[in-house]
Amino acid sequence: MTDLQIRENSDIAVNCDAMDSVVPTPGALESMPAKEVKRETKNFYDYTLPELEALLTGLGKEKYRAQQVFKWVYDKRVENFEEMSNVSKAFRAELPKIFHFERLRPLTELKSKDGTRKWLFDIGDGLTIESVLIPHKDRLTLCISSEVGCNMACRFCFTGKQKLKRRLTTGQIIGQFLHVQDTLAREGARITNIVFMGMGEPLDNPDAVFRAIEILHEPHGINFSRRKITVSTSGIVPLIPLVTKSGARLAVSLNAPNNEIRNQVMPINKKWNIWELLDACREHARESGDRVTFEYVLLKGVTDRIEQARELWELVRDIPCKINLIPFNEHPGSGFERPTPESVLAFQNELIRLGAHVLLRRTMGRDIYAACGQLTSKFDGRPERMDVNPGL
Ligand code: SF4
Repeated sequence: MTDLQIRENSDIAVNCDAMDSVVPTPGALESMPAKEVKRETKNFYDYTLPELEALLTGLGKEKYRAQQVFKWVYDKRVENFEEMSNVSKAFRAELPKIFHFERLRPLTELKSKDGTRKWLFDIGDGLTIESVLIPHKDRLTLCISSEVGCNMACRFCFTGKQKLKRRLTTGQIIGQFLHVQDTLAREGARITNIVFMGMGEPLDNPDAVFRAIEILHEPHGINFSRRKITVSTSGIVPLIPLVTKSGARLAVSLNAPNNEIRNQVMPINKKWNIWELLDACREHARESGDRVTFEYVLLKGVTDRIEQARELWELVRDIPCKINLIPFNEHPGSGFERPTPESVLAFQNELIRLGAHVLLRRTMGRDIYAACGQLTSKFDGRPERMDVNPGL
């Protein structure tokens, strides 16, 4: 769902050639040792603190020891048990028989002229995922992937054309944060916001996603504010209460002003329609006291007409919300076109006139294949040159 677009209308540089030299050639991945190594021990990064406590107390250890080790790993970034000086020597010797530390292996990092950065990670078996860092004013937002490919098949989405290949583990989700945060720390910067808008539908992988949020938030570790984390869904309605319970913010890819059009562009709408989706959003807003973010892709001649702006407003006007308008960026085979700047502006102005809180986003990171799924596709032997950004 990555749109990699932020508001404002400033120009950005577009130059795919500039980045070709740093992108490994398609096929390079196959030659890399990408097979998952089966281990007897457990990946430490798959465990929340309560799970770690349960595991260690089950082994006859005191509960407080879990907290000690958790703090070393997430607060001090120590992966060598021997360095955990306030942990007893005997326990330090036991820990490697229980855990190992499996970090994600970065294959490449790309930097856009507009400041956007993108990492491609190897998750084994020739599969890759992407994480993108988007700068905006004083914020550095990390867009995290939750799956390889996606089964939701939204018709305007590049990742949606790559069927689900794997759901990520908690450790692989946390691994994206750790790698980027550690890279930034060396530069004296830090991630300020996290959005689950990368490859995949987060609510199609809820166990791993919500455990990762728990680890990110854990005060004895990373201590990342829940209020700075957003989970974006295409509309898996029964699981939206999990977002509310997690304390994260909710974003919904709405993308149509009525069921008829949404059925065409987002197949999930046939399972849970707009009315059910908006009821769940209303409930989330009521329970959390938060505004819901509605993402709306403007597709030329499909969702960008003025009367559809009015229809959209009628749908959401009683829900505390903001609307992110995303002019579609064409990609090969999408079958959709980008609307004209005039019709985008007219749509935005109509919503503003009606009283909506609207953001119009600008595309970022086009020169690094920044929209979700693009860089991965480069490794698939699919489009070798991406001159456009699909927008989501
Ligand atoms: S927009 Fe999101 S949910 Fe839809 S196909 Fe793309 S990644 Fe999946």
